Amino acid sequence: RISVRGLDKAFGTLKAVDDVSIDIAPGEFLALLGPSGSGKSTVLMMLAGFEVPTAGQILIDGQDCTRLLPQKRNIGMVFQHYSLFPHLSVFDNVAFPLKMRGIGRVERRRQAAAALEVVRLQGYGDRMPAQLSGGQRQRVALARAIVYKPRLLLMDEPLSALDKNLREEMQLEIKRLHSDLGITVVFVTHDQGEALTMADRIAILRGGRIQQISPARELYERPANLFAAGFIGEMN
Ligand code: ATP
Ligand code: MG
Repeated sequence: RISVRGLDKAFGTLKAVDDVSIDIAPGEFLALLGPSGSGKSTVLMMLAGFEVPTAGQILIDGQDCTRLLPQKRNIGMVFQHYSLFPHLSVFDNVAFPLKMRGIGRVERRRQAAAALEVVRLQGYGDRMPAQLSGGQRQRVALARAIVYKPRLLLMDEPLSALDKNLREEMQLEIKRLHSDLGITVVFVTHDQGEALTMADRIAILRGGRIQQISPARELYERPANLFAAGFIGEMN
């Protein structure tokens, strides 16, 4: 269970994240939805440990992780503008987090192969990233994020660079992965439709503040305010 309490992040005079509190149940698929600049990535970066909050607390399974180093949090992340290491093979990209954790070569190969199987890229281990399609690259990034069996998977607009067909295919892949692994997911998107199809619950952000957190259906039927209503309505 993840518990975020009164999280703030200021960059100079700008409050990028303003008093965000969220409870995320084990195995839940939560979407953070909001327009550009609303603070989605910043929330994710604080959950991952790449940004330190100005105020507030992040508890994971009762453990205070607010100031813990990223590699100590057991969290997998797929970044918004992610590129694989271009000079490393698919295998070495996926195994990279294991290498960082000092796991030996044989075990690295075994676990990387298993992760590649989960994203259906078995047999692609010896390719270089440049020899893959956009969707395949995102799958490799996904395999790398799950290779050490994290307790939480964070994804920052992982599909925004893909064309519509591939995007829909990958949405299904990610849903399948979520139910197969039973992992907790926080998924950032600015696409209302994507949030509605994929998430158990949606948190709408605006100007760093949460406007509403509710299941997709409730967002439609009982929007908390005009912004939430308008923002969800935009997709029709
Ligand atoms: P997008 O959909 O465009 O990715 P976002 O919702 O992810 O937007 P953030 O990247 O979290 O938005 O940014 C929130 C606000 O904080 C923006 O106004 C942004 O300019 C600012 N910001 C983010 N990172 C920094 C930084 N390192 N230094 C200064 N300002 C920042
Ligand atoms: Mg962002």
